[in-house]
Amino acid sequence: MNSWPRDPVSPLWQRLSAERFSAPKLEGVRDADVVVIGGGIAGLTTALELRRRGRKVVVLEAATIGAGASGRANGQVIAALTRHGPDAIRKTLGQPFLDLLAGAADRPFGLIEKHGIECDARRTGWLQPAHSPGRELRARKMAEQWAVVGALAGPLNKDAMAARIGSQAYFGGWEHRGGGHINPYAFTLGLARAAAGEGVAVYERSPALALSREGGVWSITTPNGRVRAPRVALATAAHTGNLWPGLAQTIVPVTSYQAATAPLGRLAETVLPGDEAFSDTRQDLRYMRKDRDGRIVSGGALALQFAAGTRLPRLIHRRLIAFRPDLAAATMTDFWGGRIAMTVDRLPRLHRTPDGLATWIGCNGRGLALACAMAEVLADAVCDVPDEQLALRPTPLKPVPYHPFVSRTARLILPYLRWQDSREI
Ligand SMILES: Cc1cc2nc3c(=O)[nH]c(=O)nc-3n(C[C@H](O)[C@H](O)[C@H](O)COP(=O)(O)OP(=O)(O)OC[C@H]3O[C@@H](n4cnc5c(N)ncnc54)[C@H](O)[C@@H]3O)c2cc1C
Repeated sequence: MNSWPRDPVSPLWQRLSAERFSAPKLEGVRDADVVVIGGGIAGLTTALELRRRGRKVVVLEAATIGAGASGRANGQVIAALTRHGPDAIRKTLGQPFLDLLAGAADRPFGLIEKHGIECDARRTGWLQPAHSPGRELRARKMAEQWAVVGALAGPLNKDAMAARIGSQAYFGGWEHRGGGHINPYAFTLGLARAAAGEGVAVYERSPALALSREGGVWSITTPNGRVRAPRVALATAAHTGNLWPGLAQTIVPVTSYQAATAPLGRLAETVLPGDEAFSDTRQDLRYMRKDRDGRIVSGGALALQFAAGTRLPRLIHRRLIAFRPDLAAATMTDFWGGRIAMTVDRLPRLHRTPDGLATWIGCNGRGLALACAMAEVLADAVCDVPDEQLALRPTPLKPVPYHPFVSRTARLILPYLRWQDSREI
């Protein structure tokens, strides 16, 4: 089954991108120390990290660079997971992973600075407004726990949050001043440019069709070529197919849609006046950020996918009006979607085999900062660093129970989540 992205990437991020990148198809036979499969943020940051360690690296991208989630994301740089706070992360994934995540927002902004990536990066902070008084209490605890591990986090009361977002719709919440937002497509192209500049061989329109072991090395076949390497890093995320049998069954790919308004003019100065990004505490998340021209870029999921291009922008427009009635005048002009790899417990996983194949998977919608931080772990995993020294311990593949059924019907749970969100006190 081929599951790489085929529809065009975000029209908005493409239009606004000052970064350009293109690479040839792989033709003929190549040798490398490591083959990275997948030209998104995870694959490219891993390639850069491996190159930094002196490895000869080939990146194979099935479509074009940034064609997956990386070029379609909302662009919020968030150094936190969706469900688990620091105490829960420490308990489930361990202190080294928590430390990695606590500093994760430094990674994309560091790469942007180091490689001069033009992606409208704004390190203005990330906010999590609470949609109920009970959530406000939890948000306060969350901020305390993140501050303990060194994150630039702190609570915000109702008035402070209202001033920061330009809306009275929330009960307070917390902020992470290390976060911010970027044009994720431009960032991904910039990473590819940087990787190529450092000597990584990047190939587009070169899907890895088969992965086999021949004489102690991996052989990866594409339509017009082949790469041989002792090590393989798989970074195919929600587009994972059958290259690694059983891996696709460990995640549920979920489609998330994005919609953007036309530039708001003067009104934009009063919505998120400090230009932060925000994602609230609902299970059916509400979130937004502005782009460099004062558009609001937001998004969400739909239980039923029909006519998504009309229904999702309407849903976002209604939500913008609930956020601020004067946003009724905003017109929705751009629409796109992308696929997110979800795990049942909303935690990421690292997997590896004894013969040099490794991957991490399960960004659960918070992958921009995480992928940049996990590059080091994935590079460690293909460079034979022992399990106990990895910041995320590898686990065996564990299929989602009833996977074919669950992956087709997962989005039908949305109305139930919305109902739960509306009942929270
Ligand atoms: C709509 C949307 C909004 C999001 N918003 C945010 C956000 O605001 N903040 C945040 O932190 N995260 C967000 N995310 C999540 C974030 O985008 C991802 O976690 C991150 O981009 C994942 O990067 P990746 O490189 O792992 O995957 P991808 O970018 O999906 O890259 C995987 C690549 O693998 C390629 N591939 C697949 N199979 C093969 C093969 N056989 N051979 C070669 N190549 C192959 C694909 O073509 C693809 O380019 C969002 C995701 C979506 C979809």
